[in-house]
Amino acid sequence: MDILEKLEILTDAAKYDVSCSSSGSTRKNSSKGLGNGHISGICHSWSEDGRCISLLKILFTNKCIYDCEYCINRSSNVTKRAEFTPREVADLTINFYRRNYIEGLFLSSGIIKNPNYTMELLIKTADILRNEYHYNGYIHMKSIPGADSDLVKKMGLLVDRMSINVELPTEKSLKILAPQKSIRQIESSMTFAKEKIVQRKNEIKLYRHTPKFLPAGQTTQMIIGAGEESDFDIVTRAENLYEDYSLKRVFYSAFVPVVKSEFTNDVKKAPLLREHRLYQADWLLRFYGFKSSDLLNEENQNFDLRIDPKTDWAINNIGKFPMEINKASFYDLMKIPGIGRVSARKIVNARKYRKLEYWHLKALNISVKRARNFITVNGKYQGLKFKDQKDLKDRMSLSDPKSFEQLSFFG
Ligand code: SF4
Repeated sequence: MDILEKLEILTDAAKYDVSCSSSGSTRKNSSKGLGNGHISGICHSWSEDGRCISLLKILFTNKCIYDCEYCINRSSNVTKRAEFTPREVADLTINFYRRNYIEGLFLSSGIIKNPNYTMELLIKTADILRNEYHYNGYIHMKSIPGADSDLVKKMGLLVDRMSINVELPTEKSLKILAPQKSIRQIESSMTFAKEKIVQRKNEIKLYRHTPKFLPAGQTTQMIIGAGEESDFDIVTRAENLYEDYSLKRVFYSAFVPVVKSEFTNDVKKAPLLREHRLYQADWLLRFYGFKSSDLLNEENQNFDLRIDPKTDWAINNIGKFPMEINKASFYDLMKIPGIGRVSARKIVNARKYRKLEYWHLKALNISVKRARNFITVNGKYQGLKFKDQKDLKDRMSLSDPKSFEQLSFFG
């Protein structure tokens, strides 16, 4: 099989990994045109400093000895299989990099023979890139569940970011849908990586030349909607993962029924809007000081898809509003729907000099379209007059959640 055919199979097989999103289209250049697009997974991710970077996103192989119920690469699925060698992946990366197509590599893999064997192949790839080609670009690799901690350490010293996927929000679902994986093994790799990151950070303070270990941290991914978990189960799990393993990100991947399985036969494709609401909630947990128990609870276990979680929280806690813009603390300002960290910071700075009026907010480029129902500015309220919480929620909700789709650039 030639390298282009392998590339086609193994970029397509990587598209269900949501840590970054694939380009997914192909377009030929014409004699007078500029550039071309190729379906082979150039995707985008964001670096620590907020830059958008293009990554070559591929699987090392889609051969797999495991039989996870939700995965297109599961051993029992009949599909065309391919496998790179470490040198092929390293050469592809370097060639794409030199042509300026990519700024990094995102490499995951099915499991060949056993977790350690597969992990060694991935490490070999990173080793060729770093130590033979002296490549200093970004590398994000998946750690193989069940691999020895020595191998996790070796990989962590070569790559920028590592993902160790918990796969499913609960152990019960993992046992049913990915029975060959063990939560104990996954969590012990995450603990090991966390401890090494902390250790290296401390060592770097003492010895400037200590080799870096996962400088861009570790992440994980959860498939949502394949099991019976509620949104409350999922956000609580994410909150614990952030606290216990200092993760940079938890990625949520809405379940897509791509293969036949006894357990997922009746499970429908999870709505993308659910995934979107979970990402919004995740943002609130990480940057806005919310706890999972603020957003959901045992009685109210799922997000209302019609409305974003912050507005939903504010309406459920309408007694805390309206907040006076001239008095609320920075942290309270951030809890107002429609006011983010940047706007809260602008308000706090501006009100050092004068009492703010609505026109000041406009001049600061702060939209009050959503916020107006939850604020007073110098004592004045310009929001909706509503009967009760339900009335306000209905009036602020999407009329048809199904209509919530990614907008096309081309109308
Ligand atoms: S181990 Fe990974 S590649 Fe293999 S079947 Fe499970 S999810 Fe798919």
